[in-house]
Amino acid sequence: EQNFPHMSPVWSRIFPIEAERAEGSYIYATDGTKYLDFTCGIGVTNTGHCHPKVVEAVREQAGLFLHAQANIVVHKPMMQLIDELRKVVPPSIDSFFFSNSGAEAVEGALKLARSATGKQNVIVFTGSFHGRTAGTMALTTSKTGYKGHSQLLPSGVYVAPFPYAFRLGMTEEQASQYSLAALEELLISQTSPADTAAILIEPVLGEGGYVVPPASFIKGLREICDRNEILLIFDEVQSGFGRTGKWLALEHFGVIPDIITAAKGLASGMPLSGVFSRLDLMKKWPIGSHGGTYGGNAVAAAAGVATIRAMREEKMLENATGRGIQLQTGLRKLQEEYPQIGDVRGLGLMIGTEFVDTKGKPNKSSVKAVIGKAEEKGLLLLSCGTYDNTIRWIPPLNVTAEQINDGLAIFAESLKETVES
Ligand code: PLP
Repeated sequence: EQNFPHMSPVWSRIFPIEAERAEGSYIYATDGTKYLDFTCGIGVTNTGHCHPKVVEAVREQAGLFLHAQANIVVHKPMMQLIDELRKVVPPSIDSFFFSNSGAEAVEGALKLARSATGKQNVIVFTGSFHGRTAGTMALTTSKTGYKGHSQLLPSGVYVAPFPYAFRLGMTEEQASQYSLAALEELLISQTSPADTAAILIEPVLGEGGYVVPPASFIKGLREICDRNEILLIFDEVQSGFGRTGKWLALEHFGVIPDIITAAKGLASGMPLSGVFSRLDLMKKWPIGSHGGTYGGNAVAAAAGVATIRAMREEKMLENATGRGIQLQTGLRKLQEEYPQIGDVRGLGLMIGTEFVDTKGKPNKSSVKAVIGKAEEKGLLLLSCGTYDNTIRWIPPLNVTAEQINDGLAIFAESLKETVES
């Protein structure tokens, strides 16, 4: 507030940094400070800041035309984007709608599910984050704070427990069984299959704490959906586009949903989101019932094409897997030294370190102190989780082994100076 007095305080500001430029894994502030950025603008700049191929595609498209509205004319970048997407999503997902933000994509997915099934209700999970529009606030359960005082939200939303093994104090398999049983009960006690359009889940819980569900749970969801004629929607806004070392996190579970939402990493920072589904479902979405002026914007679509190609050409998914193992190994070593680190988990470069106190309860204060100290030392980290007690590691997918070691070294120093003092 002191630094930027006319910026709405509704933005919960984490760092008082004014960025001047950014390149690869680094942000350079206007005061000359260089930061190792392991936030990626909340999992967006997956190809690193200002990847030259993405910047070039943006420049080239900006010189041709900025905007060509999708209802009026189609354009080459969107057609190329669809071609590229078809190579990375499951073959059954063959119809693509574009919008601008993650929340818009989730709103779209829900409208599609309701139109396609003629049913209204949706089941979400504890710890979920799907956005802050009216529709998506109703679907978001990670923190009451995201709803502010807007509590008169759309109805028809039911909440089942996410299989968060660590917090539940269960094994992965116990958590899976527990959550599947609770979901089955919800379908008997609160929203019958005949009224339930969709089950919506983040295949790796993002904002809610970077929690990877057991594969048996995701498989179980598919089975419950098939048995009850309910659509399965994966919100891959945060987990998609290389973040977990795969194009989409769904590949880790061998489960194909009916609808996928994507945004964030899809266009390296240009506003672009998507609802991807099967054509047979999309055909049930009444023409004109959804749309938007800017969706699939030409410059954003060109950035999306360049993003996917750069990830493929430069083997960023493979790098994310390798660097992810390196990072988790380093974090586990630190866990041996610091009992405050209760859990280290993740897939690819979507990694969480959950902090606990001596009684095993969520430890938010240590997370805040460590993040503050790391910033002083030039490393940007974010927290997540209902209790804000997990540090999420989201480096760019082309981060180097040396940069991971630098990040780990700063984290270790920050732990030493905060946790022990
Ligand atoms: N869905 C998930 C899984 C997210 O992580 C987010 C944002 O963090 C959203 C939806 C909302 O995206 P946006 O902030 O672009 O509206």
